[in-house]
Amino acid sequence: MSLSRRPFGFSLGRTAVGAVLRGGRTIRGRIFLAFLMLSAITAALGGYAAFGIMTTGALVDKTYDRSLMAINYARAAATDLAMLQAAVARARLAGDSAERRTLEARIEALTQSFEEDLEIAADRAQSERATREAAAAKDAVAHWLAARREFGPDQQTVDVWQALDAHAAVAEQHIDLLINFTAGDGFSYRQTARADVARDVRLSIFATSLAIVLSGIVALLLLRQIVRPVADASTVASRIAAGELTVRVPEGGDDEFGALLRAMAVMRDNIAAMMQEEVAQRRSAQSLLADAVQGSIEGIVVVDAGGCIVLANARAAALLGIDQAEPGHRPLSDARGSAVADALLAMPGHATLTAETHTADGRWLRISRSPTREGGFVAVCSDVSLLKEQEDQLKRSNAQLDAALSNMLQGLCLYDAEGGLLVYNRRFCDMFGVDAAALRPGMSIRDVARLVEASSDNGRAIDLLVEQEALLQRGLSASLCCPIRTDCIVALKQQPTAEGGWIATYEDVTQRYEAEARIITMARKDALTGLANRMVFGERLEEAAAHLDEGAGAGFATLCLDLDRFKEVNDTLGHPIGDGLLRSVAERLQGCLRDTDLVARLGGDEFAIVQAGVQAGTHARRDASALAKRLIAAFQQPFLLDGHTVTVGLSIGISLAPEHGTSPEKLLKSADLALYRAKATGRGCWAFFDEEMDVELRKRRALESDLKKAVGNGEFELVFQPIVKLDRQRIASCEALLRWRHPERGYVSPADFIPLAEETGTIGEIGEWVLRKACSEAATWPSNIRVAVNVSAAQFKNAAVVRAVMDALAASGLPAHRLELEITESVLLNDSVTTLATLHTLKRLGVRVAMDDFGTGFSSLSYLQSFPFDKIKIDQSFVRNLAAPGNSRLIVRSVVGLGRSLGITTTAEGIETEAQLEQLRLEGCDEGQGYLFSRPVPSATIRELVTALGRNAA
Ligand code: C2E
Ligand code: MG
Ligand code: MG
Repeated sequence: MSLSRRPFGFSLGRTAVGAVLRGGRTIRGRIFLAFLMLSAITAALGGYAAFGIMTTGALVDKTYDRSLMAINYARAAATDLAMLQAAVARARLAGDSAERRTLEARIEALTQSFEEDLEIAADRAQSERATREAAAAKDAVAHWLAARREFGPDQQTVDVWQALDAHAAVAEQHIDLLINFTAGDGFSYRQTARADVARDVRLSIFATSLAIVLSGIVALLLLRQIVRPVADASTVASRIAAGELTVRVPEGGDDEFGALLRAMAVMRDNIAAMMQEEVAQRRSAQSLLADAVQGSIEGIVVVDAGGCIVLANARAAALLGIDQAEPGHRPLSDARGSAVADALLAMPGHATLTAETHTADGRWLRISRSPTREGGFVAVCSDVSLLKEQEDQLKRSNAQLDAALSNMLQGLCLYDAEGGLLVYNRRFCDMFGVDAAALRPGMSIRDVARLVEASSDNGRAIDLLVEQEALLQRGLSASLCCPIRTDCIVALKQQPTAEGGWIATYEDVTQRYEAEARIITMARKDALTGLANRMVFGERLEEAAAHLDEGAGAGFATLCLDLDRFKEVNDTLGHPIGDGLLRSVAERLQGCLRDTDLVARLGGDEFAIVQAGVQAGTHARRDASALAKRLIAAFQQPFLLDGHTVTVGLSIGISLAPEHGTSPEKLLKSADLALYRAKATGRGCWAFFDEEMDVELRKRRALESDLKKAVGNGEFELVFQPIVKLDRQRIASCEALLRWRHPERGYVSPADFIPLAEETGTIGEIGEWVLRKACSEAATWPSNIRVAVNVSAAQFKNAAVVRAVMDALAASGLPAHRLELEITESVLLNDSVTTLATLHTLKRLGVRVAMDDFGTGFSSLSYLQSFPFDKIKIDQSFVRNLAAPGNSRLIVRSVVGLGRSLGITTTAEGIETEAQLEQLRLEGCDEGQGYLFSRPVPSATIRELVTALGRNAA
């Protein structure tokens, strides 16, 4: 794999070299070696042939260049000699000296040319003999020319001429020899060349034959090494391919063919294994199929072209009423009478058909027939009784759904994922004035809108549908309201369905809208009195404040009104009378006002008035006072309610705009502050706001914020006052009384800060601290002395008080029966059911509960019945007045008597004198508390006191 990815040359070189190095053991190696050898032989042959040609070329050089050229030059020299002879002769015969000189020059030139030609001829001949003859010829000419000079021109004898000719003849002889030697040597060169060529031809023939033989040997070897194993392998492969998996695969060597043959053996084995596995799988699939057919709850029957049953599973056999064990090829008509056979026989033609039939036992069968290739058919019979039942059910449900849709109060349209109408109801058609017959499933909402447009001229209905279409296109769920006619407002609600479509409901909300409009009007009125409510009052104040800038002198007064003793009326005479009183009050107030003024009920017995057109400045107070006077005077007359004569007073606080402020909030708050002042002054009074009230308010706020920090700063401490058993003068319990040590104000009385803590909600935290501290202190006292803890009404607003008590007991380890909780009637005034439940829970814990300051409220007796108090504490005001003439003594007597009859301990508070003590003893009061015994003292002192007295008691 990695090798094949390498560059081909690299791979080949590497493998070929490797093959050579491995000694040609692989086929590739052998082929490589064989071709290497053949290449080497060819290269040698080529080299040798080139060498032969080069040798032949050299011979040609020698033959042509040298021999022929030498002959040519020798002949040229012979010519030069002949011309020289002629020139010499002429020169000897020339009479004119000028001519002689010319001839002498010519002889000179010819001599030089002769010598040069001879030199070249000797040089090219490359023959020693020729060289010698050339030198001899040269010498002969030299001798000849020398002899010529010896014989002057005047010696013109025959001897001279012969002597000279003899010299010339010697030269000619040498030249002839030169030519002959040159030609002879040329011939011998040619012979040598021929011999060389003949030798080369023989050598080439031999080498070619050798190469052919070697190639034959290589081919033979390749045949033996490759072709035969390939043929064997191919035969084996063909046999394996033909499925002959038992074929013997010959064993190969350790080369590629060996590997190939071994791979083929493995392949053969693998194919055999795979085939075995497949056969096994097919067998199991067949048996599974057979099991499936047999076990199928559907009846399966195969009938051949002749109408005979070829196969029937158990279910089909049962349906056909035949024995499944019977051999096949039984005519289907034999099973006539069975519902399945009858239905199959009744089916026309041979095509695929489905029929349903009803069996004798009341079941429904669905029979599906499909033709087989052999001309018969296969039939599948399914019991569809359940399906039929479901279909019937579905039909019934659909009918019910249709009925529901038709009777729906809302119009409904259901659209599919493509926006085509699926379902709609009659109400939709009625609402939009469309003919139900004109609506078709598949219509788009636009088509529906067109229908609506065509069937009525009401453009507003189309507006709704167009808007709905736009929402649909954006794929938005929506709820929108739109009037589609003057008398019809429709609320559309459109949301996607799980199938990707949309469902839209159209509800006629006209009546609801009208009702809401009425409610909105009512929301501005006080339901009980019909007066304007707080919201309208606020708006009127805003309006009046906004007009302040409009003209000099324009002002108005804000009056806050509170009914005196209204709560008593409500509590004593009941809520219906209370409500009647409020209605009558509203009427009376209204009667005192001008049209431009506004009176509103702010809640409970709180009313407020905006007095318009009050002149700013000194007249303002006069105008507002006049109204206040008028109002208070109107309340002098008692109200007659359901046979009861009721008198209630009115307290009024007044703020003036712009004198006391211009913002509605400030004016209302100022009037409210003034109302507190009016109430404090006495019932049936009015008071104007002044800045001092604001100062008081700020002081109160400062106190509030100090109070919030007081617990964290550890500014609280507890003092304890003993409660004594009057008969034996021993301490029965001690009351824990809270003291606030303010860093600047000094000791602040609980009477001053407890109401504030109640209003601001700090009482919860303070109360928990008191409980924890009192319990842990009491845990150090003798076990027969209890601790009494005051619990405020505000702490009963939730069940936290129970948790606080439990935590305090658990933390201190004080037994529950040693803790006494003192509550006032006010606890029972609010939400008495919850409060009573809380009190009972506390009682179940084992804690004692005392009614504190008894006699100061006005319905105490009923409260005593509602809860099993352990103790009644008679308020100190009665004790104080015991000696004075009046009812105090009688009241004390009756309370003590009541306590005794109910089994409740009575304790008198505020005993300061021996006379008071004596009288209380005479009246039979059980316990007493007061300065006579001890003032409230710090915990260290009380500890000493209770320890000493506890010891005495013991
Ligand atoms: P209270 O529960 O009726 O407590 C008795 C009050 O009468 C105490 O006043 C006590 O000092 C005072 N007193 C006792 N003997 C005499 C006497 O012989 N003559 C006179 N003139 N007064 C006497 P104090 O401590 O100022 O407490 C006033 C009220 O503050 C308590 O009335 C109680 O309602 C409330 N209070 C005190 N501590 C707590 C507290 O921890 N939690 C709550 N929620 N209220 C507390
Ligand atoms: Mg108390
Ligand atoms: Mg008290």
